[in-house]
Amino acid sequence: MAAADLSRLIEATANTIAAHAEELTRLDQAIGDGDHGLNMKRGFEAVRAEAGAFSAKPLPEALKAIGTKLVMTVGGASGPLFGTLFMALGKEIPAAPDRADLAAAFGKAIEAVAARGKSQAGQKTMLDVLQPVHEALLQGKTAADIVEIADNAADATVPMKALRGRASFLGDRSIGHMDAGARSTALLVRAVAEAIERRA
Ligand code: ADP
Ligand code: MG
Repeated sequence: MAAADLSRLIEATANTIAAHAEELTRLDQAIGDGDHGLNMKRGFEAVRAEAGAFSAKPLPEALKAIGTKLVMTVGGASGPLFGTLFMALGKEIPAAPDRADLAAAFGKAIEAVAARGKSQAGQKTMLDVLQPVHEALLQGKTAADIVEIADNAADATVPMKALRGRASFLGDRSIGHMDAGARSTALLVRAVAEAIERRA
């Protein structure tokens, strides 16, 4: 991937997190501790601040470095999990991935997140968006379809009962609210899919 492309992806993700930080905070206030918006904003602004250096690296090294930066800056439960997602993606992806490479690497990265979080889809977390996005990638869905699938998957966490993370402390009272990490994941998927589409 060209440096300019990676740099635009970094800008797009940081922009969407900044634009939705208050919404993410509100979601986390309802069934968590209300720090998710600030956590994500801090992390993605830290990545944006070093976008030039990250973009100069080959894609695998760039993703690993971004993941490491996210672990160091996001904090909370989500920092190590998003960090793991990017680090594992960097470990698995070739320098010039085709669609099948991306789908395969994304699958491995999700496994790494699930191992780190001792979690799986169906527990009202970011994995409830990551998993359907992976399936859509495997099925060769269009970027527009993948964006819609991610949004619908985040919406589908509303009626779920949280079984992992802080929201799980609320038991049945976690039902009726969208998971903050599922929402931030859907926002990232949209930003990346739309930035890649614009280039194609
Ligand atoms: P914290 O919960 O420590 O305050 P954040 O608010 O930044 O951290 O992140 C919360 C989000 O992290 C949740 O909405 C959920 O999507 C995700 N999350 C928390 N624990 C897990 C886990 N064990 N596996 C997967 N995702 C998780
Ligand atoms: Mg929180």
